Amino acid sequence: MNQSTCLFCKIVAGQIPSKKVFEDEKLLAFEDINPQAPVHILIVPKKHLVDLFDGSKDPALMGEIIARSAAIAKEKGLTDFRLVTNTGREGGQAVFHLHFHLLGGRQMRWPPG
Ligand code: AMP
Ligand code: ZN
Repeated sequence: MNQSTCLFCKIVAGQIPSKKVFEDEKLLAFEDINPQAPVHILIVPKKHLVDLFDGSKDPALMGEIIARSAAIAKEKGLTDFRLVTNTGREGGQAVFHLHFHLLGGRQMRWPPG
């Protein structure tokens, strides 16, 4: 998977439509196409980073994603929510462009399975 074939790069570029929740020069947040909770938003860096290992090379950007996720949760009226990033196939990652899932609006379970 590279930038020309990456699904989320295409969403960032506007080549595939998405329901945008937030956008600035570095980040895009959009609604998950297959929501697992009443609120299910994906927060992604606009630049192509594969996963959190890749993202960890830019800790300031990771901090921005986390802080922005909390701001989006607040805007959505959530007081309780889950923020998760799946890393690698065994970690549940299916799209290999770093993304954080913001999930809320229902009781979360643990362990997540
Ligand atoms: P993960 O399993 O952590 O890689 O999550 C990938 C997520 O991307 C899943 O929750 C999918 O429902 C979501 N997804 C896949 N295609 C799209 C799309 N075109 N627009 C929005 N979300 C998508
Ligand atoms: Zn990408």
